[in-house]
Amino acid sequence: MLEALPTPPVDPILALGGAVRSDRRSDKLDLGIGVFRDEAGHTPIMQAVREAERRLLDDRTTKTYVGARGDLRFADAVAQLILGTGRPERLTGIQATGGTGALRVLAGLVARARRDVAVWVPEPTWLNHQTIFADAGLKTAGYPYYDRTELRVRPDLLLAKLETIPAGDVVLFHGCCHNPCGADLPFEAWEAIAEVMGKRGLIPFVDLAYQGFGRGLDEDAAGVRLLAAKMPELLIAFSCSKNFGLYSERTGCALVLAENEARARLAGEHMALVARPLYSMPPDHGSAIVRTILEDAELAASWRIELSEMTQSILDNRRALAAAFRNATGTTGFDYLENGSGMFSLLNLSPGEILTLREERGIYIVEDGRINVAGLPTQRVTDFVHAVTDALARRT
Ligand code: PMP
Repeated sequence: MLEALPTPPVDPILALGGAVRSDRRSDKLDLGIGVFRDEAGHTPIMQAVREAERRLLDDRTTKTYVGARGDLRFADAVAQLILGTGRPERLTGIQATGGTGALRVLAGLVARARRDVAVWVPEPTWLNHQTIFADAGLKTAGYPYYDRTELRVRPDLLLAKLETIPAGDVVLFHGCCHNPCGADLPFEAWEAIAEVMGKRGLIPFVDLAYQGFGRGLDEDAAGVRLLAAKMPELLIAFSCSKNFGLYSERTGCALVLAENEARARLAGEHMALVARPLYSMPPDHGSAIVRTILEDAELAASWRIELSEMTQSILDNRRALAAAFRNATGTTGFDYLENGSGMFSLLNLSPGEILTLREERGIYIVEDGRINVAGLPTQRVTDFVHAVTDALARRT
């Protein structure tokens, strides 16, 4: 049987991780997979998470199933974090296995409602988006988002494209900290998007995987909050992997804002049906940690401080990178790195240059030029910048 399997396509980010692991050089530099690292190169467990785990260990008396839709108090707490208000009656949520699981459950919900619609994703986008929607049987198409020559977002092109997308189609946005380009939409662009989407009957779908990693918890949610206020329907996939540092616990939440409470309830029931054959019931530990933190004012305050420290360290890295490039090149051509948001930015390097950096210097960058700024220790900024500028200087 198994001989019938075709050779699978390579996932560039996972493949890069494997190559990093088998590299024996002690000074290798992994700027591939998106995890936050401290100065020691370690991805820490947040103090608030440790404290919540301690409490759970003492208080928990059972490991029985959590129910088809998981911990609904967790979903309410997440909704409040995202929207900045209590849960509206027309909103429903389901606990999911990470942001990926939330995306997949929402994709399944879309396919159950309207199998014929397309999901429009930004160009570029996280490499897994197309795969997730295809897995749910949905078509995807791209809309213009980021101009790699001008190194900036193009809301004008995005809005012009929205005017041409058929009514009823779904449009996916990164709520903040765009992966891979790190360039977010200005608030006015969200306002214009809401207007065009409403006028044309398009369904917004926000992937919010980095709330708090860009400019702050409220600032990073400004776009999604605006859509929630203006749009009759809205899908939100939320990940707790980065902002709670819960990568391995697979903690996320799928939220749906519907036109009314009855439709929201229906959406919740269908999401549970999507999840049922995939994993039946969600895991408990990660969402219990998040709920414990968010429902406790003191723990929540400590989590917010830790999160803002992580964000500050990413911003410091961005500033240091831009300054080092200014020194090395005598130009402001890399200042966009300082203005970026979240973990990622793109470098305009060719596949050959990326390979040379990897082979000669042990520097690992994703094949599209994405670097994880949050994975770069401050003391490596200068030698990283010199390696990149050396590679660029070799261009003929
Ligand atoms: N959306 C985006 C844009 C992401 O970058 C990621 C993680 N890399 C996810 C969703 C999924 O996150 P999780 O690890 O929680 O599944």
